[in-house]
Amino acid sequence: MTNQKLQTRKNQVIARGQGNVYPIYVEHAKNAELWDVEGNRYIDFGTGIAVCNTGHSHPKVIQAVKNQIDKFSHTCVMVNPYETAVTLAEKLVEIAPGDSEKKAIFVTTGAEAVENCVKIARAHTGRRGVIAFNGGFHGRTNLTMALTGKITPYKHLFGPFPGDIFHAPFPIESHGISVAESLKALANLFKVDISPTDVAAIIVEPVQGEGGFYQAPTEFLIALRQLCDDHGIVLIADEIQTGFGRTGKMFNMEYSGVEADLMTMAKGIAGGFPISAVVGKSEIMDAPLPGGLGGTYGGSPVACVAALAVLEIIEEEKLVQRANEIGDLFKQRLTTLQQQYPQLILDVRNSGAMIAIELIENGDVEQANTTLTQALIANAAKHGLILLACGFFGNVIRFLPALTISNELAEEGLSKFCELFNEV
Ligand code: PLP
Repeated sequence: MTNQKLQTRKNQVIARGQGNVYPIYVEHAKNAELWDVEGNRYIDFGTGIAVCNTGHSHPKVIQAVKNQIDKFSHTCVMVNPYETAVTLAEKLVEIAPGDSEKKAIFVTTGAEAVENCVKIARAHTGRRGVIAFNGGFHGRTNLTMALTGKITPYKHLFGPFPGDIFHAPFPIESHGISVAESLKALANLFKVDISPTDVAAIIVEPVQGEGGFYQAPTEFLIALRQLCDDHGIVLIADEIQTGFGRTGKMFNMEYSGVEADLMTMAKGIAGGFPISAVVGKSEIMDAPLPGGLGGTYGGSPVACVAALAVLEIIEEEKLVQRANEIGDLFKQRLTTLQQQYPQLILDVRNSGAMIAIELIENGDVEQANTTLTQALIANAAKHGLILLACGFFGNVIRFLPALTISNELAEEGLSKFCELFNEV
C-alpha cells in the first residue's frame, strides 16, 4: 500500500470537510516518532494536535487499556458506573488549579466539554449571554463554532449560529491590542450589546491555541476574574490545548494564580483515548438536573484507565518540568534561526512546550500563510518531520512535541526544520 493510493481512496469516500494536512498514512507510532505505510519514519512535532503529551503508545497506557478491555469496554457512567471514573474525577478535582471544592463531569470531545460549560453556566446563572474572544477556538459543534472567533474555515457556510454570543478583542501587544484596550472593548460591549447582568459566562483560552499561541497576560486574567466576581458571571478557562503539563504547569491558569469557575480538559488527558471533562466549583457544577449532562460514551472505562495512566506518567517522568526544558531548547534553536532569517521569521514564542514561530513574507503575514507556511510544512514532511500550522492568518508554525521526547530527537527534528530555510 502507498500513501498516494490511500489518499485517492480517502478522497472518494471521506468528504473534504474532514481534510488532512498530509497524505501520510500512519502504520505505527512510538513515543515521538511515527512510520507511514511505506516504511518512512517521521519525527512528530504535532502529537495529533497536542494530544500525545506522554508520547505515542506509552507502554503504561497500552497495558492499562489492555487490562481494561479484558474486563469490559462499556457500560455507560450514567447507567452502571465503575470505580475508575470516580478515581479519575477525584484526581482531576485535586489537580485543577485553585482551592475551591470541585466536581467533574465526563464527556467525549473538547467541543462537548466547552458546550457543557456553557450549559452549566446558564443553568447556574439563569442568564443567556456568553462572551468569547476574537481569534479564539472552542470547537466545531454548533455552539462552540459560534464561540470560535475565526471565520474561515470553521464557520464558513455554517450559519445561522446560536444567538447571545458576543466577541471581544483578545489582548495581543504585537497586534497593537493592549490589555487596557481589550478591557475597554469589553466595557463597551456591556454598554451597547448586553448588560453584564444578562451574561452567564466569559470563556477564555489562557493561551490561544489555534489562534496562534498567544499567552493571555496575567493582568488580563485577573481583570476578567474581577469582572466576573463583580457581576456574578461564570469564568470558564478553556485548557483543552494547554492542559496536562503542556505549558510547563499542569494547567496554564496556574501561571496567573487565577482560579476559573469552570474549566475544560481534553486532548492531553488520556494519550489519544477520547475523553474530556469539565471540572468546576461544586455549587456551579451541581446546577443542572440529573441526566442533563453527559452522554453515552462520556467517561468511557477504556479512556478512564488511559487517563489514570497518563496522570501517573506525568508525575513519574516529571513531564511538567520537562515541558519547560523542551520549551527552552526549542526557543533557543528557533531564536537563532530567527536571527539568521529576520525577513521570514517575525516572532518566536512559547509557553513551556507549546512553541510557535510566526512567519512573514515580503512584510506581509497573510502572504506567508499561502506560500511560506504551507511550503515549509509540506517540505518538512518530505524530510521526515510532522508540523502543524495555526494562527489567525495561518502563518504560524506550531511545535507540540511529546513531553517524553529525548533531547537528541528534538535536536534532530529542529535541525531538519532549520535546514528547510536553506531551500526557501
Ligand atoms: N478548545 C480548544 C482550546 C481547542 O484547542 C480545541 C481543539 O483544538 C477545542 C476546544 C475542540 O476540541 P475537539 O476538537 O476535541 O472538539
